[in-house]
Parts: sequence; structure tokens; C-alpha cells
Amino acid sequence: MIVPAGNEKECALILAKGGHEGCGVFPVGKLEEVIAFFRGQHRLTDARKNGIKFEEAVEKAPDFGRIKGQALAKRAAMISAAGGHNLLMIGPPGEGKSMLAKAMPGILPRLRDAEKVLLTRIHSACGKLERDGLAVTRRPMRSIHHTASKNAIIGGGSGVPRPGEITLAHLGVLFLDEIAEFQRATLEALRQPIEDGVVHLTRVQGAMQFPCKFTLVAAMNPCPCGYAGSENCRCSKADVEKYQQRLSGPILDRIDLQVELKPLTVDERFAASEEGVSSRMRAQVERARDRQDQRYEGTQIPFNAAMPGGHIGDYCQFSAAGLETFRGVVASRTLSTRSMDRLAKVARTIADLGESAAVEPPHVQEATTFVIGGVLRDSS
Ligand SMILES: [Zn+2]
Repeated sequence: MIVPAGNEKECALILAKGGHEGCGVFPVGKLEEVIAFFRGQHRLTDARKNGIKFEEAVEKAPDFGRIKGQALAKRAAMISAAGGHNLLMIGPPGEGKSMLAKAMPGILPRLRDAEKVLLTRIHSACGKLERDGLAVTRRPMRSIHHTASKNAIIGGGSGVPRPGEITLAHLGVLFLDEIAEFQRATLEALRQPIEDGVVHLTRVQGAMQFPCKFTLVAAMNPCPCGYAGSENCRCSKADVEKYQQRLSGPILDRIDLQVELKPLTVDERFAASEEGVSSRMRAQVERARDRQDQRYEGTQIPFNAAMPGGHIGDYCQFSAAGLETFRGVVASRTLSTRSMDRLAKVARTIADLGESAAVEPPHVQEATTFVIGGVLRDSS
């Protein structure tokens, strides 16, 4: 392929998609070069021969080893990444909720070439890549504030609809900090895109759709002042209940995992940070995803979290003892069908992380901590 010099990087990226391994990219500065080439008087060099260096557009995620303490929340993050489960973190301000969300893309499976091309196109179309040679080869993390407009989040605007933050978060992480502060209408508007993985925008000019498959990571304080559970909390019981109820309903239904973050102990505050923790976690996540790829081969199911209701029995593969434990939890907590399904899916992901073919009692017990041990979990 002969291209104008300066565009070779973009072309090479498009050719990175499968099926173009034999293609070369030949940048030329002048038309005369092309003519000389076809007359056999001039040789062109394949820009891909020497390897093309792309500049990464997405910042590298911080290492999990830099996050002090919060072992339970880190475990929840790994389960989330391994099974594609959405995650809610509840805890006082300044205890690492945002840092955990920022670290999440670093443990999600590495992107395939076709996914990198797609993400680069999306971010380019949104005007996020100013220079030639910038590419998106890491999973994005988009953090949205509760004051952001519905158009900025979902997409839209006057004229040709533009993709919103949920599309920029495609194949990455969408972080909703202070989720209890979001307008109810905004959270309602997120419900369908989360469910479908695609957002439909209708305008006078016509309908458009943009992809938006992301892992939702949300964070909230346990109460308006942020310190419920400690003597510092100044909120009344009614205030706390009212605050927590803001999140009830449709969005909570799409969050499989809940975890509480506690204030760090003095020892934890002084603990040294480690390097390379994220890459070890990612390796474990990728092994768990391989098991899921085998399980769902020939189906449209990408990972455990997307297991369709009513088919839990087909895919979860409980051992006899595992099923006994599961039935016990369901009976003692009088779980709804929805919560029961959620528990089974999370237990399946924990078993995949443990490289276990069957779901055993410890997997169910650990899942219980994150699925129904949550502060906000009602009888839904
Ligand atoms: Zn409070």
C-alpha cells in the first residue's frame, strides 16, 4: 500500500487487524517517486519492516502495589476484572477508592490488535488524538463527575450526535465517583447502555449507535459526611438511610460486587509499596478469562457476568458440596432470583480464578461476602 508520507502510522495501525500480515506500507513524499517505482527505477521501503513506534494515548494505570492496605477491595477488583462484573466501592473519603478505579485497567486482559484499532478510531473520531502516530493500545479509564451533563456522559448534542464518555470508556473502565450525588435521571439514562453495551442516539439527522462495553466501577461514601460506622459521623440514622437509598433500583441491579473500604491501620499506612503487582494480577485474570472463553465457545457470552438468567445451571458447574452450600445461603437469606443468579456468577468467577473446574463451598462463601454482604443490598 502506497501512502503519503506522514500517514504511514495510521495505515499501519489499520493493517494491524488480522488478515493483513502480508501487506506493506510504503510512504512516499512525491508523486514522482510513485511513477519511478512503477517504472522499476525506484525502490520503496516498507515502513513496517523496521517496526513502527506508536505513541500511547492512554496513560499507564498505576500499579496495584502502590495502593496501601484494602486487601478486600483489591480482591473485589480482581474478581471484577476476571468475570466482567461491575463493582461498587463504599468507604470514607481518601481511602483509595479513586486510586483503585484508576488501577483497574492495568489488570484487565490485554487488548487484541483489532480492539486497539477500534479504540484508536473511536478516540480519533472524538478528537482525542491530536497528533499523527498516537494510538490507543491500553484500556481506557474515564472518570465522570456528577455535575457532567447527560450529553457529555451518554453522547448527543445538537447537529451530528457525538459519542459521550461511555463510548470513550469502551473496552475499559467507566468510573462514577460519588455515585449517590448523581441525578437520578443521569443514572436512569445509563441503565440501557449498560444493559446493551451500545448506545442509540436519535436526532433529526437520523439515528446513530456507538459501542459502550465497559466495566462500571462506582464509588460512594457510606453517608453524607462520609464517616458512617465511626464516632466521627455526624449524620442521623434517617440521613444515612435516605443517602443510601438514592442508589437503589436499576443501577444497583447491574452491580454484582460491593465492597467496603475501611480506614487504614497505622501499619498499613507505613507499608512499603510494591511493583509488578498489577502484572501478576493480570496474568491470573487472563487465565480465568481463558477458562471462560472455553466455557462459552460458540455462544455470544463474553464472560461470567453476562451469563443469561435461567442458564446458571448450564454453566456454573457446582460440585455436590458447592451446590449444598449455595442452597444453604439462598435459603437462609431468602434471596430473590436476581440475587441468587448474581451469587452464582460471582462464585463461578472465583472458581475460575482458583482454576477449579467445579464451584466448591469456599467459592460460594467468598462470593457471599461481595454479593450479599454489601451494606446496600436489600431484598431485591
Ligand atoms: Zn455521616
